Amino acid sequence: MLQGLMQDRPLLISSLIEHAARFHSQAEIVSRTCEGPMHRCTYADIGRRAKRVANALSGLGVATGDRIATLAWNGYRHMELYYGVSGMGAVLHTINPRLFPEQVEYIVRHAEDRFVFFDLSFVPLIEKLAQAATGVRAFVLMTDRAHLPECDIPGLLCYEDLLAAASDEYEWPQFDEHTASSLCYTSGTTGNPKGVLYSHRSSVLHSWAACAADGLGIGAAETLLLVVPMFHVNAWGMPYAGAMSGARLVMPGPALDGRSVYELLRAEKVTLALGVPTVWLMLLQHVEASGLRPKEELCLRRVVIGGSSAPRAMSECFETQFGAFVVHAWGMTEMSPVGTVCNLLPKHQGYTLEQRLTVQEKQGRAIYGVEMKVVDDDGRRLPHDGRTAGHLLVRGPWITSGYYREAGQDLLDADGFFDTGDVATIDADGYMQITDRAKDVIKSGGEWISSITLENAAIAHPAVAEAAVIAAAHDKWQERPLLIIVRKPGQTLTRDEMLQFLQGKVANWWIPDDVAFVHELPHTATGKLHKLRLREMFRDYRLPGG
Ligand code: AMP
Repeated sequence: MLQGLMQDRPLLISSLIEHAARFHSQAEIVSRTCEGPMHRCTYADIGRRAKRVANALSGLGVATGDRIATLAWNGYRHMELYYGVSGMGAVLHTINPRLFPEQVEYIVRHAEDRFVFFDLSFVPLIEKLAQAATGVRAFVLMTDRAHLPECDIPGLLCYEDLLAAASDEYEWPQFDEHTASSLCYTSGTTGNPKGVLYSHRSSVLHSWAACAADGLGIGAAETLLLVVPMFHVNAWGMPYAGAMSGARLVMPGPALDGRSVYELLRAEKVTLALGVPTVWLMLLQHVEASGLRPKEELCLRRVVIGGSSAPRAMSECFETQFGAFVVHAWGMTEMSPVGTVCNLLPKHQGYTLEQRLTVQEKQGRAIYGVEMKVVDDDGRRLPHDGRTAGHLLVRGPWITSGYYREAGQDLLDADGFFDTGDVATIDADGYMQITDRAKDVIKSGGEWISSITLENAAIAHPAVAEAAVIAAAHDKWQERPLLIIVRKPGQTLTRDEMLQFLQGKVANWWIPDDVAFVHELPHTATGKLHKLRLREMFRDYRLPGG
């Protein structure tokens, strides 16, 4: 084989911040802090302080491969840790603080975290954790001395003191690009959380794909609002993509309510915002309740929605009230996370809004680097006809090959594909549409009913705030759909009105057998509907005629 003659430079996370600090030195990182005020700094500042982090960690005896945990919101200090920890060759372990304390404790032990960095909001959680997590050498509170609270955490260190004592002279080490860079546990609804261990190479490649025009289209002209948390799949890789492209970043800290998010969108002239549907729901409710005029007040051009399906009604609302295009995207922790993005093709140019929204309901086309297939129960490939639903499998350089420290796993099929656990169709243009999680599909008389399709149809009703569909046991059909609704405040929607509304919108035999009304729906730590808990809540529920 004739070898090419190109330079062999490792793809390292430190190269991203080096690039940003040099070529986008004045681009801003704006953070709402836990202490209260807004904070502004630049990529150059983050670059310098990340070097202090690396020096400080070296001084604390941190070695290559050591796991350094964070329990923190989106903010500049978290970003400094992203670069300081991974850049020096240690592993940044971002923990989701919304998990149950026992799960956090399990994760810290399983990962064998050496140091835990945390925000002021999590003092009570860390006080408990400090008793149990005996392997942790020290806890570091991400604030300055003036804000250190009275608390019961032995040997507590102060972040700003550590940085002040460290030099910002540091040469980022060069090492194999396959070295582990960060670790994120999936918040599985059953069993213990499982660790996905990213590498420098996978993170940099994913970042390139995310920046690409038909990826998430990120460049120096954009101002990004990272509503998606940095403790969930590295905020969809945006802290890396931001540095790669020089995009201005806005970090909301702990304030994710509709009013706070709207205020940031307005004050910081955000052009592209990224988050899961539950936070957008809060934003849309705030806009409706307060009679705001987002189209006139905001500069928002695009909203990336992923993590759960983006309902048509939500995309329509962003389009008509905000003048913003919804970019529907799909992925998972195991995929770094981006797999598909719903951008449009030239053939869609003359489409009416109605027709275009039908395209935008799909999760989109695979970005370069992600291979996809849908297969039947026996692993045989299914046609890309937009109708035949099957198990969705993926392969690519930023997709996991196994979970961290899980013995005896064989995650991939014979061709190296990973089973996502999702059920999907792919159409002739390559647009993939998730119809369900495999375990949430409603199996009615041997046929599958998509709970997501029903939920999206139900949420289009103006009186519905949120909708969930689960399988309820049925004597004749084994399972039938039960629709569970949260009404908008002051609305009086009845069961029959709801079912009537669905007529003609979904196949007749998909119409749920019953509707239950609740005040709120349970969600997982990453904002998805908690179907397992819903099924438990409705375990004794009897369908009419079931
Ligand atoms: P997580 O690893 O927590 O990010 O969850 C990944 C899972 O979220 C996927 O396997 C899907 O089931 C679901 N998911 C992510 N994005 C979407 C989307 N756009 N539409 C429907 N489900 C999604």
